[in-house]
Amino acid sequence: MLLGAHVSSTGGIDTAVDRAEALRLRSIQIFSQSTRMWRQTNHTPQAIARFRERRAETSLGAVVIHATYLINLAATDDAVYAKSLKALSSTVGVGAAIGADGVVFHVGSHLGRGLDAAMHQIVPGLQVVLGERDPDGPWLLLENSAGHQGTIGVTVEELALIIDELGRPEQVGICLDTCHLFASGIDITTPEGVEALLDEVESRIGLDRLRCLHVNDSKMTFGSNRDRHANIGQGEIGKKLSVMLGHPKLQELPAIAETPGSDNRGPDKAEMARFARIHRAGVKQWQTVTSSR
Ligand SMILES: [Zn+2]
Ligand SMILES: [Zn+2]
Repeated sequence: MLLGAHVSSTGGIDTAVDRAEALRLRSIQIFSQSTRMWRQTNHTPQAIARFRERRAETSLGAVVIHATYLINLAATDDAVYAKSLKALSSTVGVGAAIGADGVVFHVGSHLGRGLDAAMHQIVPGLQVVLGERDPDGPWLLLENSAGHQGTIGVTVEELALIIDELGRPEQVGICLDTCHLFASGIDITTPEGVEALLDEVESRIGLDRLRCLHVNDSKMTFGSNRDRHANIGQGEIGKKLSVMLGHPKLQELPAIAETPGSDNRGPDKAEMARFARIHRAGVKQWQTVTSSR
């Protein structure tokens, strides 16, 4: 498993690699623009070149960009919808420029209308983005949601429906967030629960399309549909996060912590040490489960 974290790119997109190196991360996630404003950041050719150079000097196994939270492909407001497509497409472009492996994004919210009612917007919107992308560019990764106020992707089934409607194109996959899974009522605290989840991903989407994990504990209770990240091992999932982290089929994936850290400034050394400990414990637990079969 490529243990990593969301890191800041304040001071230039390339500085994210420096931060990753300081924390000895194996994977990183960054924002390539503001998460609260539509305006896209203008990355200089120098910063992009340095990002690629610096990455080659590190042991970073995966780089993903998280698209802005403002994106809503199910927006009923035409201006928001148009801006969403533009933001997603431009993020995919930045991803291609820096050599990112994936762009993770939230599909948006149907605001209670149901996924069916929003599908006629989501699918053509994503087709536009797919049409504009560089074929050598990053994967497009739909993230599962906690389900608060109609956020789309609350089940594997919802993510599968969108990918199916798109005609299962190349380099379109999913990112699963442990906090969102737990909050949406998917039990990842037992081996049976995790097996059931991965069986469903395998049969509905294909495990080869699962390209990234977000590893967060949850401040809110199971099935609460609320998205509040807690530090790894310190929330409602607690040490049982090891069950998902140790699963043999997930060991090749980038696993990104998006947690507050000790001082609310994001994952730090202490957080990454806890992450590594819980991951190791999980790998051991699964060795026992598999050998007793
Ligand atoms: Zn996430
Ligand atoms: Zn979240």
